[in-house]
Amino acid sequence: MTEAWGPGDDEPRPHRGPVKVRVPAKINLHLGVGPLRPDGFHELNTVYHAISLFDELTARRGDTLTLTMEGEGTGELELDESNLIIRAARALAARGRVPAYARLHLRKSIPLAGGLAGGSADAAATLIACDMLWGLGMSRDDLAEVGAELGSDIPFLLHGGTALGTGHGEAVSPILARPTTWHWVVAIADGGLSTPAVYRELDRLRDDSWPPAPLGGPDRLMTALRQRDPEVLGAALGNDLQPAALSLRPQLAEVLKAGHEAGAITGLVSGSGPTCVFLAADAAHAQEVAAALTAAKVCRAAVTARGPQPGARVI
Ligand code: ATP
Repeated sequence: MTEAWGPGDDEPRPHRGPVKVRVPAKINLHLGVGPLRPDGFHELNTVYHAISLFDELTARRGDTLTLTMEGEGTGELELDESNLIIRAARALAARGRVPAYARLHLRKSIPLAGGLAGGSADAAATLIACDMLWGLGMSRDDLAEVGAELGSDIPFLLHGGTALGTGHGEAVSPILARPTTWHWVVAIADGGLSTPAVYRELDRLRDDSWPPAPLGGPDRLMTALRQRDPEVLGAALGNDLQPAALSLRPQLAEVLKAGHEAGAITGLVSGSGPTCVFLAADAAHAQEVAAALTAAKVCRAAVTARGPQPGARVI
């Protein structure tokens, strides 16, 4: 006899939990920022790239919504309704018409306000974890729609890989290049930089230039990605926010110089900074550059990472 109610065999069912999700940080291989528009936004043209620096979110069944954490930013990051994890859980529950009940725990490695989209990564992980815990069975595209309302980088962190982002960065299309692993060194700074403050500084710096800076496209970078040569990729990396981040945090010039002296192919500020990333030729070269950056004492920590990585995934 077939049951007339409840999910059928193929339909998703609530999960007993725990559901553990791993999510990568992002860097921008190209970040083109258009002029400030009258609506206060900047149009972006970016190439996102997910790297092997991960946060982990675990969701368990509960009879309220709670959040705890350990790792980077503990004691500093608010765990209340302002946290993107709580906001993502509530937005998903509203969309799925279920109560937002879960006990969520974050293990954080992505530095706060580092230009690596850690908050968006956590929101993406929450969407994947709670979708499974609550048995909603939503597609990644549907989850991306919920995520885009909360932050422009969230759709990318659901998909991962290397992808083109347009609009405010929320319209994502994957870049199909032959599989290549790129080796990076991530120089983590002491303290963060506020993304809105970096955009304001960019506008201030650009106020003096006429005609307004055009929105640069990623054509050169797209061609470089196809060539699979780190030297070629290195020459095509670019970030329009870098002058603004350097203006607000002049010490970053020392970090970039130290990476150059350590033999990195190239280095740039990640997104709005203050994290700097350096491209290396291979895994051994990345280790050498990381060791030299650590010895130069120009950053809080220098770690190696590989990209591209898949987006938020249950592990
Ligand atoms: P982006 O590159 O997307 O602008 P970022 O990497 O510079 O971001 P995030 O760590 O993503 O910075 O977060 C910026 C701010 O968002 C934090 O300072 C914090 O106030 C807020 N925030 C809310 N929830 C989170 C979260 N789960 N993790 C990190 N930050 C969060």
